[in-house]
Amino acid sequence: MIEFPRQKEDELFAAVGQFLADHRLGVEPANYAFAYRVLSDPGGALAQSVATLTDGGIRLTAQDIADLGGPTVGSVAPRPDLPDGPDGPDPQQPPEAAELHAQADEMIARAEMQMAQFSDAVRSIHEETSGFGRDLAASAAAMRQADATTGMDEVSRLTAAMIDRAHVAERRMAAAEQEAAALRSALVEARGTARLDPLTELANRRAFDEAYDALPPGTPVALALCDIDHFKRVNDEFGHAVGDRVLRAVGLTIASESGGAVVARYGGEEFALLFVGVDIDAAVTLVDRARSAVAARRFRSRKTDAPIGVVTISGGVAAGTSDDPREALYARADAALYRAKAAGRNRAFSAA
Ligand code: GH3
Ligand code: MG
Ligand code: MG
Repeated sequence: MIEFPRQKEDELFAAVGQFLADHRLGVEPANYAFAYRVLSDPGGALAQSVATLTDGGIRLTAQDIADLGGPTVGSVAPRPDLPDGPDGPDPQQPPEAAELHAQADEMIARAEMQMAQFSDAVRSIHEETSGFGRDLAASAAAMRQADATTGMDEVSRLTAAMIDRAHVAERRMAAAEQEAAALRSALVEARGTARLDPLTELANRRAFDEAYDALPPGTPVALALCDIDHFKRVNDEFGHAVGDRVLRAVGLTIASESGGAVVARYGGEEFALLFVGVDIDAAVTLVDRARSAVAARRFRSRKTDAPIGVVTISGGVAAGTSDDPREALYARADAALYRAKAAGRNRAFSAA
């Protein structure tokens, strides 16, 4: 290992941190080691290869690092708390919901992996500090044996060395703590994103199913399904983007008019509602209130101001207890929805 004086070591430490941030690399030992190899020998072949690859501010890819003999592609984890740079996804192109969910799941997995790596980093800092303690004890013993004149020199030399080491350990600890805080918030965010429908910002199917499955045994429940009537017409006449905005507006109206039910976008243009401790009649009344609130809205195309007209929903409601399998309640609500559609739409029926 190359020995650096203290000031140089501090600069190198800061430069390694900056390098990892610039290239959005996780603060893990393999990435540290790579950055250290690049920065500790600025004139070396590795630093030159990195400079060539990053000419014009382009950041290193995991493959670049693997090609340069750094950690293998799989172990190079980008930082989860930073947005993608200019070579990331185009912000003009919103990704599809499925893709967003996959991204969120990947983010969780990555953040969880980094949490584990962070624990390893903390463990190694602990090991280092206990080594530090051992050195201190050995130094104290050496000082006791030294005679009075050489003793003072030895004391000041050892003290300076110890202060340096404490300083480095403190900086590492602070960086690790900062990283842990960033990881914690990335994890919280990723967990939330994985349960939100990105278009309507309502709960998604996964969150709905989890809410049902988490109910205490024997809880009285009602499950409703609401589906937009003739929604294909809105898309066909006004385009998918207008369809999306209508879908969002309908979802938000249902959520605000259904008396506090858990409302999720369950499928394309279908919403699921979970009423807890509410009997079937009360649930049907609330679904019907949401239905009439949707029907009362008048939609217009934002771009052309052309009237989209009335948009309605139909609903089916089934009641039982949380002991009923979710799928069984869903099937009964779906059958009631089917009857509401067959009976002319824009109505809510309860399951037989
Ligand atoms: P019905 O009254 O029988 O429900 O008629 P419908 O036209 O609503 O039903 P259908 O199942 O034939 O068509 C559903 C349409 O919903 C087709 C699909 O393109 C549209 N859709 C589903 N998800 C989305 C979405 O996220 N955005 C938009 N714009 N349209 C969607
Ligand atoms: Mg429909
Ligand atoms: Mg449908």
